[in-house]
Amino acid sequence: MTTDKAIVLSVCRLTKTYSAAGERVDVLRGVNLSIAAGERVALTGESGSGKSTLLHLIAGLDRADSGKIDFAGISITELGEAGLAALRRDRLGLVFQHFNLIPSLSVRDNLAFQSRIAGRHDAKWLSELTDRLGLADFLDRYPEQLSGGQQQRVAIGRALAVKPTLLLADEPTGNLDEATADDVLALTRDLVAQTGCSLLMVTHSIRLAATLDRHIHLSAGLIA
Ligand code: ADP
Ligand code: MG
Repeated sequence: MTTDKAIVLSVCRLTKTYSAAGERVDVLRGVNLSIAAGERVALTGESGSGKSTLLHLIAGLDRADSGKIDFAGISITELGEAGLAALRRDRLGLVFQHFNLIPSLSVRDNLAFQSRIAGRHDAKWLSELTDRLGLADFLDRYPEQLSGGQQQRVAIGRALAVKPTLLLADEPTGNLDEATADDVLALTRDLVAQTGCSLLMVTHSIRLAATLDRHIHLSAGLIA
């Protein structure tokens, strides 16, 4: 891809095969992908096409069989577990379909969780995020006392509080009704733009995918 912006993420000839019940599944068969600074990319593909697998590999939560991933100038494929954990904590925002909030922590503490352990707590930015996400009145509540849309807003706030280089979102609106999904996505898009980070978002919605800068599709283990 030619662009005048810096490349934040570069995935080159990535492969991943799973073996389950004696059967081999070639999930990724040589995936290439580059994302520029500030670029917002939608990733679609049939269920089971390997979208989550690709995000897990980029986040360093699983290892590729071959190929290369460079993120923020660092070769993820050569990094050890401690280095991967530090990179995830400091440079990546992760948002999943099931929110993954910490049930025993209040909204306030969930929001600050990652930025505190990353040593990147910025009270002013967190307060602005809280307002923009409409969470100011819910700070003392616990996740179970929130709607799905509210919980996902907390997860997005937590991920953006560190001002990550890249936000990885795996079907973040998959558990929400359509109107709520649209709200959450529009907010995510705006906050990502404000943060200046890049976004790679898995979605089933072609309509939502069309609202980002670029739409890529995973099929038969490849991004066309
Ligand atoms: P998607 O997110 O596009 O629905 P996934 O990346 O979750 O797809 O899965 C891709 C394929 O890899 C599926 O066939 C799935 O069953 C398989 N798979 C994913 N994770 C594992 C695993 N840990 N062990 C074995 N097979 C897996
Ligand atoms: Mg998935």
